[in-house]
Amino acid sequence: MSTVYLVGAGPGDPKLLTRRAYELITSAEIVVYDALVSPRIVELIPPTTRLYNVGKRYGAHSMKQPEINALLIELASEGASKIVRLKGGDPFVFAHGGEEMNVLREAGIRYEIVPGITAGLAAPAYFDIPVTHRAVSRSFTCLTAHSESGELPAFDWQALAKLGGTLIFYMGVRQIASISQALIEAGCSAATPAALVSRGTTPQQSLLARTLGEFTDPEEDFTAYTPALFVIGEVIRLSEGRTSRPLAGKKVIVTRARHQASSLQEALESEGAEALLLPTIELSSNEAIKAEVATHLSQLARYGWVFFTSPNAVEFFFAALHRAGLDARALSPCRIASLGPMTTAALEAQGIKPDFMPSEYHAKAFAREFVEQVSAPHDKPLLLPASALAHDDLAHLLQEAGCRCERLPLYTNSPIHYEAEELRATLASADYLTACSSSAVHHLVELLEQYQLTDLLRELPIAVLGEQTAGAVRSYGLDPQLIAPQATIPSLVGALIERLG
Ligand code: SAH
Repeated sequence: MSTVYLVGAGPGDPKLLTRRAYELITSAEIVVYDALVSPRIVELIPPTTRLYNVGKRYGAHSMKQPEINALLIELASEGASKIVRLKGGDPFVFAHGGEEMNVLREAGIRYEIVPGITAGLAAPAYFDIPVTHRAVSRSFTCLTAHSESGELPAFDWQALAKLGGTLIFYMGVRQIASISQALIEAGCSAATPAALVSRGTTPQQSLLARTLGEFTDPEEDFTAYTPALFVIGEVIRLSEGRTSRPLAGKKVIVTRARHQASSLQEALESEGAEALLLPTIELSSNEAIKAEVATHLSQLARYGWVFFTSPNAVEFFFAALHRAGLDARALSPCRIASLGPMTTAALEAQGIKPDFMPSEYHAKAFAREFVEQVSAPHDKPLLLPASALAHDDLAHLLQEAGCRCERLPLYTNSPIHYEAEELRATLASADYLTACSSSAVHHLVELLEQYQLTDLLRELPIAVLGEQTAGAVRSYGLDPQLIAPQATIPSLVGALIERLG
Protein backbone atom coordinates (compact mmCIF):
# COMPACT_ATOMS: atom_id res chain seq x y z
CA MET A 1 0.00 0.00 0.00
CA SER A 2 1.50 3.32 -1.08
CA THR A 3 1.54 6.46 1.00
CA VAL A 4 2.27 9.83 -0.58
CA TYR A 5 3.81 12.32 1.84
CA LEU A 6 3.27 15.99 1.03
CA VAL A 7 6.38 17.37 2.68
CA GLY A 8 7.58 20.91 3.25
CA ALA A 9 11.33 21.28 2.73
CA GLY A 10 11.51 24.69 4.40
CA PRO A 11 12.94 27.83 2.85
CA GLY A 12 16.41 26.60 1.85
CA ASP A 13 18.73 26.10 4.82
CA PRO A 14 18.92 22.30 5.24
CA LYS A 15 19.07 22.83 9.02
CA LEU A 16 15.48 24.07 8.84
CA LEU A 17 14.12 20.74 7.62
CA THR A 18 11.84 19.19 10.21
CA ARG A 19 12.93 15.88 11.71
CA ARG A 20 9.96 14.24 10.00
CA ALA A 21 10.93 15.69 6.63
CA TYR A 22 14.51 14.48 7.04
CA GLU A 23 13.37 11.03 8.09
CA LEU A 24 11.09 10.79 5.06
CA ILE A 25 13.47 12.08 2.39
CA THR A 26 16.20 9.73 3.59
CA SER A 27 13.95 6.67 3.63
CA ALA A 28 11.55 7.17 0.71
CA GLU A 29 11.78 5.06 -2.44
CA ILE A 30 10.71 7.97 -4.61
CA VAL A 31 11.04 11.74 -4.19
CA VAL A 32 9.22 14.16 -6.48
CA TYR A 33 10.57 17.68 -5.93
CA ASP A 34 10.20 21.27 -7.15
CA ALA A 35 12.61 23.89 -8.44
CA LEU A 36 12.30 25.71 -5.12
CA VAL A 37 13.79 22.87 -3.07
CA SER A 38 17.38 23.89 -2.36
CA PRO A 39 20.17 21.79 -3.93
CA ARG A 40 21.70 21.30 -0.47
CA ILE A 41 18.52 19.49 0.53
CA VAL A 42 18.39 17.42 -2.65
CA GLU A 43 21.97 16.32 -1.80
CA LEU A 44 20.67 14.73 1.40
CA ILE A 45 18.54 12.27 -0.57
CA PRO A 46 20.39 8.93 -0.88
CA PRO A 47 21.69 8.19 -4.40
CA THR A 48 19.58 5.03 -4.65
CA THR A 49 16.30 6.98 -4.39
CA ARG A 50 14.32 7.51 -7.57
CA LEU A 51 14.19 11.27 -8.14
CA TYR A 52 11.74 13.31 -10.20
CA ASN A 53 12.54 16.97 -10.67
CA VAL A 54 9.20 18.37 -11.79
CA GLY A 55 10.22 22.01 -11.73
CA LYS A 56 13.24 22.49 -13.91
CA ARG A 57 13.16 26.24 -14.05
CA TYR A 58 15.25 27.17 -17.01
CA GLY A 59 14.99 23.89 -18.87
CA ALA A 60 12.28 23.61 -21.45
CA HIS A 61 10.32 21.28 -19.31
CA SER A 62 8.64 22.26 -16.12
CA MET A 63 5.67 19.98 -15.45
CA LYS A 64 2.21 21.52 -15.33
CA GLN A 65 0.16 20.87 -12.20
CA PRO A 66 -2.22 18.32 -13.83
CA GLU A 67 0.82 16.36 -15.05
CA ILE A 68 2.26 16.35 -11.53
CA ASN A 69 -1.07 15.16 -10.10
CA ALA A 70 -1.14 12.37 -12.67
CA LEU A 71 2.47 11.43 -11.91
CA LEU A 72 1.71 11.06 -8.19
CA ILE A 73 -1.20 8.76 -8.90
CA GLU A 74 0.80 6.73 -11.39
CA LEU A 75 3.72 6.29 -8.98
CA ALA A 76 1.40 5.31 -6.13
CA SER A 77 -0.30 2.71 -8.30
CA GLU A 78 3.09 1.19 -9.19
CA GLY A 79 3.32 0.11 -5.59
CA ALA A 80 6.26 1.98 -4.03
CA SER A 81 5.42 2.15 -0.34
CA LYS A 82 6.87 5.60 0.48
CA ILE A 83 6.58 8.42 -2.02
CA VAL A 84 7.63 11.90 -0.95
CA ARG A 85 6.26 14.93 -2.73
CA LEU A 86 8.75 17.58 -1.60
CA LYS A 87 7.97 21.28 -1.85
CA GLY A 88 9.82 24.44 -0.87
CA GLY A 89 8.63 26.05 2.36
CA ASP A 90 5.29 24.71 3.54
CA PRO A 91 3.20 22.43 1.27
CA PHE A 92 -0.01 24.31 2.08
CA VAL A 93 1.31 27.83 1.46
CA PHE A 94 1.05 28.85 -2.20
CA ALA A 95 2.19 25.41 -3.26
CA HIS A 96 -0.81 23.48 -4.68
CA GLY A 97 -0.66 21.22 -1.61
CA GLY A 98 -4.41 21.31 -1.13
CA GLU A 99 -4.99 20.40 -4.76
CA GLU A 100 -2.62 17.43 -4.63
CA MET A 101 -4.23 16.29 -1.39
CA ASN A 102 -7.67 16.31 -3.05
CA VAL A 103 -6.39 14.34 -6.02
CA LEU A 104 -4.93 11.69 -3.70
CA ARG A 105 -8.13 11.54 -1.66
CA GLU A 106 -10.23 11.05 -4.76
CA ALA A 107 -7.96 8.28 -5.97
CA GLY A 108 -8.17 6.59 -2.56
CA ILE A 109 -4.42 6.88 -1.99
CA ARG A 110 -3.11 7.20 1.57
CA TYR A 111 -1.34 10.46 2.27
CA GLU A 112 0.25 12.42 5.09
CA ILE A 113 0.88 16.16 5.31
CA VAL A 114 4.21 17.28 6.76
CA PRO A 115 4.31 21.04 7.32
CA GLY A 116 7.48 22.99 6.61
CA ILE A 117 8.75 26.41 7.61
CA THR A 118 7.34 28.88 5.15
CA ALA A 119 9.72 31.36 3.48
CA GLY A 120 7.55 34.34 4.42
CA LEU A 121 8.45 33.94 8.08
CA ALA A 122 11.90 32.38 7.86
CA ALA A 123 13.52 34.64 5.26
CA PRO A 124 12.75 37.88 7.18
CA ALA A 125 13.86 36.15 10.41
CA TYR A 126 17.31 35.48 8.92
CA PHE A 127 17.60 39.27 8.56
CA ASP A 128 16.51 39.92 12.15
CA ILE A 129 13.00 40.94 11.06
CA PRO A 130 10.24 39.67 13.37
CA VAL A 131 6.93 39.66 11.47
CA THR A 132 5.06 40.73 14.61
CA HIS A 133 6.50 42.96 17.31
CA ARG A 134 4.91 44.53 20.37
CA ALA A 135 3.59 48.01 19.62
CA VAL A 136 4.88 47.82 16.03
CA SER A 137 3.00 45.05 14.23
CA ARG A 138 0.00 43.11 15.50
CA SER A 139 -0.49 40.97 12.42
CA PHE A 140 1.19 39.54 9.42
CA THR A 141 -0.60 38.83 6.17
CA CYS A 142 0.78 36.47 3.54
CA LEU A 143 -0.39 37.17 0.01
CA THR A 144 0.51 36.12 -3.46
CA ALA A 145 1.02 38.70 -6.14
CA HIS A 146 0.75 36.01 -8.80
CA SER A 147 -2.31 35.51 -10.94
CA GLU A 148 -3.05 33.47 -14.06
CA SER A 149 -3.51 36.64 -16.14
CA GLY A 150 -0.25 38.22 -14.99
CA GLU A 151 -2.25 41.17 -13.59
CA LEU A 152 -2.08 42.15 -9.94
CA PRO A 153 -4.76 40.18 -8.02
CA ALA A 154 -7.82 42.22 -7.05
CA PHE A 155 -7.14 42.70 -3.35
CA ASP A 156 -9.04 45.14 -1.18
CA TRP A 157 -6.03 47.47 -1.03
CA GLN A 158 -7.73 49.90 1.37
CA ALA A 159 -8.30 47.07 3.82
CA LEU A 160 -4.64 45.99 3.49
CA ALA A 161 -3.45 49.58 3.96
CA LYS A 162 -5.56 49.89 7.11
CA LEU A 163 -4.33 46.65 8.69
CA GLY A 164 -1.14 48.32 9.84
CA GLY A 165 0.72 45.02 10.36
CA THR A 166 3.30 43.32 8.17
CA LEU A 167 2.44 42.41 4.58
CA ILE A 168 4.36 39.60 2.96
CA PHE A 169 3.99 39.12 -0.78
CA TYR A 170 5.07 35.79 -2.32
CA MET A 171 5.78 35.48 -6.06
CA GLY A 172 5.85 39.21 -6.51
CA VAL A 173 9.17 40.21 -8.10
CA ARG A 174 7.43 41.29 -11.30
CA GLN A 175 4.75 43.25 -9.45
CA ILE A 176 6.76 45.27 -6.97
CA ALA A 177 6.07 48.67 -8.47
CA SER A 178 2.34 47.93 -8.91
CA ILE A 179 2.02 46.64 -5.33
CA SER A 180 3.80 49.71 -3.95
CA GLN A 181 1.71 52.06 -6.07
CA ALA A 182 -1.56 50.34 -5.10
CA LEU A 183 -0.73 50.54 -1.39
CA ILE A 184 0.25 54.21 -1.57
CA GLU A 185 -2.95 55.04 -3.47
CA ALA A 186 -4.91 53.13 -0.84
CA GLY A 187 -3.47 55.30 1.92
CA CYS A 188 -0.12 53.78 3.00
CA SER A 189 2.59 56.35 3.59
CA ALA A 190 5.28 56.37 0.91
CA ALA A 191 7.73 56.39 3.82
CA THR A 192 6.61 52.93 5.05
CA PRO A 193 9.63 50.60 5.19
CA ALA A 194 9.61 47.94 2.47
CA ALA A 195 12.14 45.27 1.58
CA LEU A 196 12.94 42.68 -1.03
CA VAL A 197 14.18 39.57 0.77
CA SER A 198 15.93 37.34 -1.72
CA ARG A 199 16.98 33.67 -1.38
CA GLY A 200 16.36 33.87 2.34
CA THR A 201 18.12 31.33 4.61
CA THR A 202 20.61 30.35 1.89
CA PRO A 203 24.22 31.58 1.71
CA GLN A 204 23.14 33.78 -1.22
CA GLN A 205 20.50 35.62 0.77
CA SER A 206 20.20 39.37 0.36
CA LEU A 207 18.06 42.18 1.71
CA LEU A 208 17.16 45.30 -0.22
CA ALA A 209 15.57 47.62 2.34
CA ARG A 210 14.02 50.91 1.21
CA THR A 211 10.68 52.69 1.56
CA LEU A 212 7.48 51.89 -0.30
CA GLY A 213 7.88 55.12 -2.29
CA GLU A 214 11.28 53.99 -3.49
CA PHE A 215 9.83 50.81 -4.99
CA THR A 216 7.41 52.49 -7.42
CA ASP A 217 9.55 52.67 -10.56
CA PRO A 218 7.87 50.31 -13.08
CA GLU A 219 11.10 50.17 -15.12
CA GLU A 220 13.14 48.63 -12.29
CA ASP A 221 13.67 44.91 -12.87
CA PHE A 222 13.97 42.63 -9.85
CA THR A 223 13.74 39.27 -11.62
CA ALA A 224 17.41 38.53 -10.85
CA TYR A 225 16.45 38.34 -7.16
CA THR A 226 14.09 35.34 -7.43
CA PRO A 227 12.98 33.65 -5.31
CA ALA A 228 12.17 36.72 -3.28
CA LEU A 229 9.53 38.10 -0.98
CA PHE A 230 8.31 41.65 -0.93
CA VAL A 231 7.81 42.62 2.71
CA ILE A 232 6.17 45.82 3.87
CA GLY A 233 5.93 47.17 7.41
CA GLU A 234 7.57 49.02 10.28
CA VAL A 235 9.18 45.80 11.59
CA ILE A 236 11.78 46.09 8.82
CA ARG A 237 13.41 48.91 10.81
CA LEU A 238 14.38 46.37 13.47
CA SER A 239 16.74 44.68 11.04
CA GLU A 240 19.13 47.58 10.59
CA GLY A 241 20.46 45.47 7.73
CA ARG A 242 21.86 42.96 10.19
CA THR A 243 21.69 39.24 10.54
CA SER A 244 22.43 37.06 13.54
CA ARG A 245 24.72 34.89 11.41
CA PRO A 246 28.18 36.38 11.75
CA LEU A 247 29.57 35.15 8.41
CA ALA A 248 26.51 36.08 6.33
CA GLY A 249 27.45 37.32 2.89
CA LYS A 250 31.05 36.05 3.17
CA LYS A 251 32.46 33.65 0.63
CA VAL A 252 35.02 31.21 1.91
CA ILE A 253 36.97 28.77 -0.26
CA VAL A 254 37.28 25.22 1.02
CA THR A 255 40.24 23.36 -0.49
CA ARG A 256 39.66 20.02 1.20
CA ALA A 257 39.00 16.94 -0.92
CA ARG A 258 35.34 16.70 -1.83
CA HIS A 259 34.50 13.75 0.42
CA GLN A 260 36.02 15.59 3.37
CA ALA A 261 34.72 19.06 2.74
CA SER A 262 31.35 18.57 4.36
CA SER A 263 32.22 19.26 8.01
CA LEU A 264 33.92 22.56 7.20
CA GLN A 265 31.28 23.42 4.62
CA GLU A 266 28.51 22.82 7.14
CA ALA A 267 30.23 24.75 9.90
CA LEU A 268 30.74 27.73 7.58
CA GLU A 269 27.21 27.60 6.22
CA SER A 270 25.60 27.41 9.63
CA GLU A 271 27.35 30.72 10.41
CA GLY A 272 25.87 32.16 7.23
CA ALA A 273 28.90 31.98 4.91
CA GLU A 274 28.86 30.62 1.41
CA ALA A 275 31.37 27.79 1.10
CA LEU A 276 33.00 27.67 -2.34
CA LEU A 277 34.30 24.15 -2.82
CA LEU A 278 37.64 24.05 -4.59
CA PRO A 279 38.99 20.56 -4.05
CA THR A 280 42.41 20.23 -5.63
CA ILE A 281 42.86 16.50 -5.42
CA GLU A 282 40.83 13.38 -5.62
CA LEU A 283 41.81 10.47 -3.43
CA SER A 284 41.54 6.87 -4.43
CA SER A 285 42.87 3.65 -2.98
CA ASN A 286 46.24 2.55 -4.28
CA GLU A 287 45.13 -0.33 -6.48
CA ALA A 288 48.70 -1.00 -7.65
CA ILE A 289 49.66 -2.51 -4.31
CA LYS A 290 46.35 -4.07 -3.30
CA ALA A 291 47.86 -7.48 -2.58
CA GLU A 292 50.74 -5.98 -0.60
CA VAL A 293 48.30 -3.96 1.52
CA ALA A 294 46.24 -7.06 2.30
CA THR A 295 49.40 -8.91 3.39
CA HIS A 296 50.49 -6.06 5.66
CA LEU A 297 47.08 -5.86 7.23
CA SER A 298 46.90 -9.57 7.97
CA GLN A 299 50.25 -9.33 9.78
CA LEU A 300 49.72 -6.31 11.97
CA ALA A 301 51.18 -8.16 14.98
CA ARG A 302 54.60 -7.52 13.41
CA TYR A 303 54.28 -3.83 14.25
CA GLY A 304 54.60 -2.19 17.64
CA TRP A 305 52.80 0.97 16.64
CA VAL A 306 50.58 2.20 13.85
CA PHE A 307 50.90 5.93 13.17
CA PHE A 308 47.93 7.80 11.74
CA THR A 309 48.70 11.27 10.46
CA SER A 310 45.42 12.33 8.85
CA PRO A 311 41.72 11.47 8.78
CA ASN A 312 42.29 10.27 5.20
CA ALA A 313 44.84 7.72 6.36
CA VAL A 314 42.34 6.45 8.93
CA GLU A 315 39.58 6.22 6.38
CA PHE A 316 41.62 4.36 3.76
CA PHE A 317 43.18 2.10 6.39
CA PHE A 318 39.81 0.89 7.64
CA ALA A 319 38.40 0.58 4.15
CA ALA A 320 41.37 -1.65 3.23
CA LEU A 321 40.94 -3.61 6.45
CA HIS A 322 37.29 -4.31 5.68
CA ARG A 323 38.13 -5.23 2.12
CA ALA A 324 40.61 -7.77 3.44
CA GLY A 325 37.80 -9.33 5.49
CA LEU A 326 39.20 -7.93 8.76
CA ASP A 327 37.95 -5.45 11.33
CA ALA A 328 39.31 -3.21 14.08
CA ARG A 329 40.38 -6.23 16.14
CA ALA A 330 43.24 -6.74 13.69
CA LEU A 331 44.84 -3.73 15.38
CA SER A 332 44.72 -5.21 18.86
CA PRO A 333 48.41 -6.28 18.97
CA CYS A 334 49.47 -2.70 18.08
CA ARG A 335 49.47 0.59 19.86
CA ILE A 336 48.07 3.56 18.01
CA ALA A 337 49.41 7.08 17.56
CA SER A 338 47.43 10.00 16.17
CA LEU A 339 48.86 13.26 14.86
CA GLY A 340 46.06 15.56 15.96
CA PRO A 341 42.47 16.05 17.04
CA MET A 342 40.92 15.54 13.59
CA THR A 343 42.76 12.25 13.12
CA THR A 344 41.77 11.23 16.66
CA ALA A 345 38.12 11.99 15.89
CA ALA A 346 38.35 9.80 12.78
CA LEU A 347 39.90 6.99 14.85
CA GLU A 348 37.26 7.33 17.55
CA ALA A 349 34.57 7.02 14.92
CA GLN A 350 36.10 3.58 14.26
CA GLY A 351 35.97 2.74 17.95
CA ILE A 352 39.71 3.28 18.52
CA LYS A 353 41.20 5.45 21.25
CA PRO A 354 44.76 6.41 20.33
CA ASP A 355 47.51 5.70 22.86
CA PHE A 356 49.59 8.69 21.90
CA MET A 357 49.00 12.17 20.54
CA PRO A 358 51.67 14.90 20.56
CA SER A 359 51.06 18.24 22.29
CA GLU A 360 51.66 20.09 19.02
CA TYR A 361 50.20 18.75 15.82
CA HIS A 362 53.09 18.62 13.39
CA ALA A 363 55.61 16.04 12.27
CA LYS A 364 58.57 17.42 14.26
CA ALA A 365 56.74 17.45 17.57
CA PHE A 366 55.21 14.08 16.74
CA ALA A 367 58.59 12.43 16.20
CA ARG A 368 60.35 14.21 19.09
CA GLU A 369 57.66 13.64 21.70
CA PHE A 370 57.13 10.08 20.60
CA VAL A 371 60.78 9.22 21.05
CA GLU A 372 60.97 11.10 24.38
CA GLN A 373 57.80 9.78 25.92
CA VAL A 374 57.40 6.30 24.61
CA SER A 375 60.12 4.48 26.47
CA ALA A 376 59.37 0.98 25.15
CA PRO A 377 62.31 -0.33 23.14
CA HIS A 378 61.51 0.01 19.50
CA ASP A 379 62.13 -3.62 18.77
CA LYS A 380 59.22 -3.81 16.41
CA PRO A 381 58.86 -1.55 13.39
CA LEU A 382 56.28 1.22 13.15
CA LEU A 383 53.66 1.17 10.43
CA LEU A 384 52.80 4.47 8.78
CA PRO A 385 49.74 4.23 6.52
CA ALA A 386 49.80 7.27 4.26
CA SER A 387 49.36 8.67 0.81
CA ALA A 388 51.64 7.38 -1.92
CA LEU A 389 52.64 10.99 -2.58
CA ALA A 390 52.92 12.29 0.97
CA HIS A 391 55.94 14.33 1.96
CA ASP A 392 58.05 12.00 3.99
CA ASP A 393 58.93 14.30 6.89
CA LEU A 394 57.62 12.06 9.61
CA ALA A 395 59.14 8.83 8.30
CA HIS A 396 62.54 10.56 8.01
CA LEU A 397 62.36 12.13 11.44
CA LEU A 398 61.40 8.83 13.03
CA GLN A 399 64.16 6.99 11.23
CA GLU A 400 66.71 9.61 12.29
CA ALA A 401 65.57 9.07 15.87
CA GLY A 402 66.32 5.39 15.52
CA CYS A 403 62.85 3.98 14.90
CA ARG A 404 62.31 1.47 12.17
CA CYS A 405 59.47 2.81 10.10
CA GLU A 406 57.57 1.20 7.24
CA ARG A 407 55.32 3.28 5.04
CA LEU A 408 52.19 1.77 3.62
CA PRO A 409 51.13 3.87 0.63
CA LEU A 410 47.42 3.14 0.95
CA TYR A 411 46.02 5.79 -1.32
CA THR A 412 47.01 8.03 -4.15
CA ASN A 413 45.84 11.50 -5.03
CA SER A 414 45.31 12.80 -8.48
CA PRO A 415 44.86 16.46 -9.36
CA ILE A 416 41.43 17.78 -10.37
CA HIS A 417 41.18 19.72 -13.60
CA TYR A 418 39.73 23.22 -13.73
CA GLU A 419 39.41 25.83 -16.44
CA ALA A 420 41.62 28.88 -15.82
CA GLU A 421 38.60 31.18 -15.88
CA GLU A 422 36.75 29.09 -13.33
CA LEU A 423 39.72 29.29 -10.95
CA ARG A 424 40.20 32.99 -11.47
CA ALA A 425 36.50 33.72 -10.87
CA THR A 426 36.35 31.62 -7.71
CA LEU A 427 39.48 33.15 -6.20
CA ALA A 428 38.51 36.68 -7.16
CA SER A 429 35.05 36.42 -5.62
CA ALA A 430 36.14 34.99 -2.27
CA ASP A 431 36.74 36.77 1.03
CA TYR A 432 38.98 34.05 2.47
CA LEU A 433 40.66 30.84 1.47
CA THR A 434 41.00 27.97 3.93
CA ALA A 435 43.56 25.19 3.91
CA CYS A 436 43.45 22.34 6.40
CA SER A 437 46.66 20.52 5.51
CA SER A 438 50.02 21.26 3.97
CA SER A 439 49.21 18.95 1.08
CA ALA A 440 46.13 21.06 0.32
CA VAL A 441 48.44 24.08 0.08
CA HIS A 442 50.96 22.33 -2.16
CA HIS A 443 48.26 21.02 -4.46
CA LEU A 444 46.57 24.41 -4.70
CA VAL A 445 49.81 26.14 -5.63
CA GLU A 446 50.61 23.44 -8.19
CA LEU A 447 47.16 23.88 -9.69
CA LEU A 448 47.47 27.67 -9.89
CA GLU A 449 51.00 27.49 -11.26
CA GLN A 450 49.73 25.66 -14.33
CA TYR A 451 47.81 28.77 -15.30
CA GLN A 452 50.23 31.36 -13.90
CA LEU A 453 47.56 32.35 -11.42
CA THR A 454 49.57 32.07 -8.19
CA ASP A 455 49.57 35.85 -7.84
CA LEU A 456 45.88 35.70 -7.01
CA LEU A 457 46.90 34.18 -3.67
CA ARG A 458 48.69 37.40 -2.74
CA GLU A 459 45.41 39.28 -2.72
CA LEU A 460 43.32 36.66 -0.97
CA PRO A 461 43.65 36.22 2.79
CA ILE A 462 44.47 32.63 3.77
CA ALA A 463 43.28 30.87 6.92
CA VAL A 464 45.02 27.67 7.94
CA LEU A 465 44.60 24.90 10.41
CA GLY A 466 47.77 24.58 12.46
CA GLU A 467 51.46 25.46 12.21
CA GLN A 468 52.41 22.79 9.69
CA THR A 469 49.92 24.15 7.16
CA ALA A 470 51.07 27.69 7.96
CA GLY A 471 54.61 26.55 7.18
CA ALA A 472 53.50 25.22 3.82
CA VAL A 473 51.94 28.60 2.99
CA ARG A 474 55.11 30.45 4.05
CA SER A 475 57.24 28.17 1.89
CA TYR A 476 55.72 29.96 -1.11
CA GLY A 477 56.58 33.39 0.25
CA LEU A 478 53.01 33.99 1.37
CA ASP A 479 51.81 34.86 4.83
CA PRO A 480 48.77 33.15 6.30
CA GLN A 481 46.55 35.91 7.71
CA LEU A 482 44.93 33.59 10.16
CA ILE A 483 46.10 30.46 11.98
CA ALA A 484 43.43 28.60 13.93
CA PRO A 485 44.58 28.42 17.56
CA GLN A 486 43.69 24.72 17.61
CA ALA A 487 43.93 22.38 14.68
CA THR A 488 40.19 21.74 14.55
CA ILE A 489 37.34 22.86 12.30
CA PRO A 490 35.43 24.71 15.09
CA SER A 491 38.60 26.59 15.99
CA LEU A 492 39.15 27.58 12.35
CA VAL A 493 35.56 28.76 11.93
CA GLY A 494 35.70 30.58 15.29
CA ALA A 495 38.82 32.42 14.19
CA LEU A 496 37.16 33.40 10.90
CA ILE A 497 34.17 34.77 12.81
CA GLU A 498 36.49 36.85 14.99
CA ARG A 499 38.19 38.21 11.90
CA LEU A 500 35.22 38.71 9.57
CA GLY A 501 32.12 38.76 11.77
N1 SAH B 1 5.45 26.91 -0.29
C1 SAH B 1 6.43 27.98 -0.30
C2 SAH B 1 6.03 29.11 -1.21
C3 SAH B 1 5.96 28.75 -2.65
S1 SAH B 1 5.53 30.09 -3.68
C4 SAH B 1 6.63 28.47 1.14
O1 SAH B 1 5.85 28.12 2.02
O2 SAH B 1 7.61 29.16 1.37
C5 SAH B 1 7.10 30.59 -4.28
C6 SAH B 1 7.49 31.92 -3.66
O3 SAH B 1 7.94 31.73 -2.34
C7 SAH B 1 8.64 32.61 -4.33
O4 SAH B 1 8.21 33.31 -5.48
C8 SAH B 1 9.10 33.56 -3.25
O5 SAH B 1 8.24 34.66 -3.17
C9 SAH B 1 8.89 32.73 -2.02
N2 SAH B 1 10.11 32.05 -1.57
C10 SAH B 1 10.33 30.73 -1.50
N3 SAH B 1 11.56 30.48 -1.00
C11 SAH B 1 12.11 31.68 -0.73
C12 SAH B 1 13.35 32.09 -0.17
N4 SAH B 1 14.28 31.21 0.20
N5 SAH B 1 13.57 33.42 -0.03
C13 SAH B 1 12.64 34.32 -0.39
N6 SAH B 1 11.46 33.98 -0.92
C14 SAH B 1 11.19 32.69 -1.09
